[in-house]
Amino acid sequence: MADSSVADVDANALLDEANSASEAQGEPQFTLELNQDQKDIRDWVHGFAEGVVRPAAEEWDEREETPWPVIQEAAKIGLYSFEAMGQFWADPTGLTLPVANEELFWGDAGIGMAIMGTTLAVAAIFGQGTPEQMGEWIPQCFGSPEDVKLAAFCASEPDAGSDVSGIRTSAKYDEAKDEWVLNGQKAWATNGGIAEIHVVIASVDRELGSRGHAAFVIPPDTPGCEQGAKVKKHGLRASHTADVHLDDCRVPGSCLLGGKEKLDERLARVREGKKAKSQAAMQTFEASRPTVGAQALGIARAAYEYALDYAKEREQFGKKIVENQAIAFDLANMKLEIDAARLLVWRAAWMGRNGHKFENAEGSMSKLKAGEVAVWVTERAIQILGGNGYTREFPVERMHRDSKIYTIFEGTSEIQRLVISRAISGFHIR
Ligand SMILES: Cc1cc2nc3c(=O)[nH]c(=O)nc-3n(C[C@H](O)[C@H](O)[C@H](O)COP(=O)(O)OP(=O)(O)OC[C@H]3O[C@@H](n4cnc5c(N)ncnc54)[C@H](O)[C@@H]3O)c2cc1C
Repeated sequence: MADSSVADVDANALLDEANSASEAQGEPQFTLELNQDQKDIRDWVHGFAEGVVRPAAEEWDEREETPWPVIQEAAKIGLYSFEAMGQFWADPTGLTLPVANEELFWGDAGIGMAIMGTTLAVAAIFGQGTPEQMGEWIPQCFGSPEDVKLAAFCASEPDAGSDVSGIRTSAKYDEAKDEWVLNGQKAWATNGGIAEIHVVIASVDRELGSRGHAAFVIPPDTPGCEQGAKVKKHGLRASHTADVHLDDCRVPGSCLLGGKEKLDERLARVREGKKAKSQAAMQTFEASRPTVGAQALGIARAAYEYALDYAKEREQFGKKIVENQAIAFDLANMKLEIDAARLLVWRAAWMGRNGHKFENAEGSMSKLKAGEVAVWVTERAIQILGGNGYTREFPVERMHRDSKIYTIFEGTSEIQRLVISRAISGFHIR
């Protein structure tokens, strides 16, 4: 029989040798352990989520209003600020952004979205804007701790949800005035109408479908940009969602993200039948999918932890309910699914940050898995709490309502499967 202790020593020696060789070459070692900066940020956001967000969650869910005082608290500690978002994004591993989102949404998803909803518009400006546009508009999306502001990203329309090529909002260029004139109706916009800055996806050439789209910044108080109906929702009720009407809304030429020259070049390529880069709305969604997945993870983890504690306390038939395999196995599966989803989220976040192409739609995989896990875990949490789980006296019913949006927005589960199946097969699956 082989001497296993010798084999272990040899394996360890080999491992050490390999690690020092890769260190010498300047290659980072593979690790899933968060570094000290990441842990500090995680604990900082967790502290805010536990101390400020959780105690306010039920109230703002019932009020169905934007929790301005909580956003202001987040701004005061620097969490709601472009500096913090920049710091999260700058982490070369890509993990800080999902880690921070998971913690915040562990606190509460409705308030979490009220705080993070702005970042979708910021991502669009960051992804498509020139450095001057980023410098001008991104700070305005947040305002200051004394005067906090929000931003909205408006792609969806009543007849263009999953199918963004159906976008009818038009942007026409008025050359004499160097202005763009936008007309149309946007639907379901997070922070729509109450935002300082709206980023609007509009068609500059309808014949080109989604390849004729461009993104525009609508500056504060621009005439012709008005809030339409506010939506009453199943969950995420502390986050404001509304239609936005654009009625002869004129914005300076400089509000076209990326600039006119770049747009003209892109349109010319498309008209010549050449391949153009992906569409304006899709670019924003692709980049944000792992972060959205991390938000769903936060909800799932909160519900799992609550259900675990409850099952260890609640007694029926003379024993703790966790002592029944039916309950304990459910909890084991909840933990398993959450951890599996987190690995997909972290992988996609790392790939996105390090410029690895999503060859197999890894961004979609992460959002799809985390969203479905959140819905399933929160439903199981209600089951474990029994009648209490179904009441508004306990938070898991709210978590379940909140989780459901994660199989719908930023691409429904069906659309994510479409994206993955197209990526892996190379076929245009319909
Ligand atoms: C709370 C909330 C916040 C939102 N925030 C924003 C925001 O900030 N900005 C923004 O632009 N939008 C936002 N949205 C809109 C959201 O992105 C859309 O609701 C979503 O993309 C789905 O579009 P839809 O609702 O029109 O559904 P539809 O596209 O009509 O889909 C209906 C059903 O058909 C399925 N389906 C459609 N096409 C296919 C297909 N080819 N194959 C298989 N199944 C298909 C879908 O999966 C879904 O189950 C928000 C929505 C909500 C509810």
